[in-house]
Amino acid sequence: MLEIRDLCFRYSRHAPVLNGVDLTLNDGEIGILLGRNGSGKTTLFRLILGMEKPERGTMLLDGKDLSKCSRRERAKRIAFVPQTVQFGALTVEETVLMGRISRFGFAPGKEDRLVTERVLAEMRLLPLASRNVDALSGGERQKVAIARALAQEPGMLVFDEPTANLDLQNEQLILSEANRVAKERGIGILISLHDLNHALALGDRFFLLKDGTIRYTGGEEVFTEEIIRDVFDANVRIVTLEGKKHIINGGL
Ligand code: ADP
Repeated sequence: MLEIRDLCFRYSRHAPVLNGVDLTLNDGEIGILLGRNGSGKTTLFRLILGMEKPERGTMLLDGKDLSKCSRRERAKRIAFVPQTVQFGALTVEETVLMGRISRFGFAPGKEDRLVTERVLAEMRLLPLASRNVDALSGGERQKVAIARALAQEPGMLVFDEPTANLDLQNEQLILSEANRVAKERGIGILISLHDLNHALALGDRFFLLKDGTIRYTGGEEVFTEEIIRDVFDANVRIVTLEGKKHIINGGL
């Protein structure tokens, strides 16, 4: 479980980007972070991953203070799937094995190879194991990024706009993989997405970021026309089809 309390952060002498963020994500839950461009989503991820230091506040993962973990310990506990992945000239198998680097240090052992094999099978990547990652499609590369993150055997996963550069079919593939991982492995996943309908389809809990704080949080009940207008400054209509909410563009 991830518990963030009163998290505050600014880039050097700039105005605060985060100004008292509170967020709780349970194991096995998919939490979706939403907010306008520049609202601080990537910054929040950088803080969770230890790439920036907060000015104030606490972040606990399974009760343990992340600020007291070493870089390596943190890399073991939290895995990151970025928007676009640069792998270099490695095969799929080597790339996934690299996910274990925070565990093996100098050279991979038997356990590292076993975990890699298991994750490749789980993600149905075995047929591609010896292919060069650079030669794969965007969707396949993103699956490899998820596999590499899983090979870390993390306590939680963070995805920053994982579908930003994918076509519709690959978008759906990656979102369904995220869902499967959260439910089968029982780990929490925090994802930023820009598509509100994808967010609604995937999320268990939503965190709407505005003016440096989580202005609204909860289940799908947080999606109202008023709240979307407040957070995104956009007019939408919300319709319910087959018991599920859908958001349609309400015009200019
Ligand atoms: P989002 O991911 O929601 O688009 P970001 O976290 O990238 O938002 O950015 C939040 C704010 O912080 C923006 O105003 C952005 O301009 C600013 N910002 C991001 N990175 C830096 C940086 N390295 N130095 C100064 N300001 C930054």
